[in-house]
Amino acid sequence: MSDSPDAFRQTGAVPLPSPFADVAAATKGFLPVDEGDALHDAAVAAQPGTWLEVGTYCGKSTVHLGAAARTVGAQVVTLDHHRGSEENQPGWEWHDTSLVDPHTGRLETLPSLRHALWDAGLDDVVSVLAATTQQVATWWSTPLTFLFLDGNHTEEVAQHDYAAFAKHLVPGGTLVIHDVFERPEDGGRPPYNVWCRAVEEGFTPVSTTGSLRVLTAP
Ligand code: MG
Repeated sequence: MSDSPDAFRQTGAVPLPSPFADVAAATKGFLPVDEGDALHDAAVAAQPGTWLEVGTYCGKSTVHLGAAARTVGAQVVTLDHHRGSEENQPGWEWHDTSLVDPHTGRLETLPSLRHALWDAGLDDVVSVLAATTQQVATWWSTPLTFLFLDGNHTEEVAQHDYAAFAKHLVPGGTLVIHDVFERPEDGGRPPYNVWCRAVEEGFTPVSTTGSLRVLTAP
């Protein structure tokens, strides 16, 4: 990293404390520093209880959430099948050959997550759930105080993930959606469509930082 984690830090954001900032900076992922700070800010302000992250990848955002959960006294569940989204597959823009498991020939991000949690000392705060959201949706029943939607960005799955898990948020719970692009030229539509649906269904917009949007549950 040529830029320090503080280089683009937002005014007023709660700094991600050491050693979490260093671990997050060293972990692969698609979360700019200002959006990571906004995620951490939203989590530090959230209620204790059970938090769910949908879409883990290598754990960059998970370290942000785990650090906040340590402060708040929450437990984080992070959910991913760990074999990468479409854009991470061979031939796509975001494919990383160093993450291919020679045993399966498929992308495999679970070891990277385990290393990040180990390095951050967050094994006791974060429960790792390796499954598809469709699998977990069939049995999940725990009330949530915080939900971070950052999974598969197809319309079908993005809508599924919102419908499956946002209904478990307690009143006043925090919903965070990543990769929300209002202008089509900036990025794909599904996360924005999910944000619109959430607002229609009574969620209150709280903040926007880059493509990261925070809302409060009705
Ligand atoms: Mg994302």
